[in-house]
Amino acid sequence: MAVFKCEKCGATKEGRCKPKKCPECAETGTMQKKEDKQSSGCGCACKK
Ligand SMILES: [Zn+2]
Repeated sequence: MAVFKCEKCGATKEGRCKPKKCPECAETGTMQKKEDKQSSGCGCACKK
């Protein structure tokens, strides 16, 4: 599961595919994949 973040309003959304538009501001093309290794745990890429 990847996390995508809107560059415009900062809203985040989890999903397997890149959202075409932001669920918050409805802007298209602003959702960018966010690397969340640091925020999701120990930071060693074990996903726990
Ligand atoms: Zn947005």
